[in-house]
Amino acid sequence: MPRPSKCSAEFGSCCKDLKDSLTIPQQKFFWADEQGVLYLTIGGVRTEQGVGWMDHAVLFCPFCGTKLQTKEEISLKAGSAPPHLQ
Ligand SMILES: [Zn+2]
Repeated sequence: MPRPSKCSAEFGSCCKDLKDSLTIPQQKFFWADEQGVLYLTIGGVRTEQGVGWMDHAVLFCPFCGTKLQTKEEISLKAGSAPPHLQ
């Protein structure tokens, strides 16, 4: 079994529930950006410009509690600005 690399593909290796959540088509509430930071979409906000999505970086797997990433890792990967604002 190959050692998991530090990329988005590693998310979901802790349990089947998270893996399944990452592979649900269309309704993607878990998603990883190109920096390899896993986000959870909390909800949508209806504004005059349309629907804005609220995303939050996931530190622990919500299903099994495994530590997935740290705030330090996220800020290192994401840089100063959240990716959806770039
Ligand atoms: Zn898990």
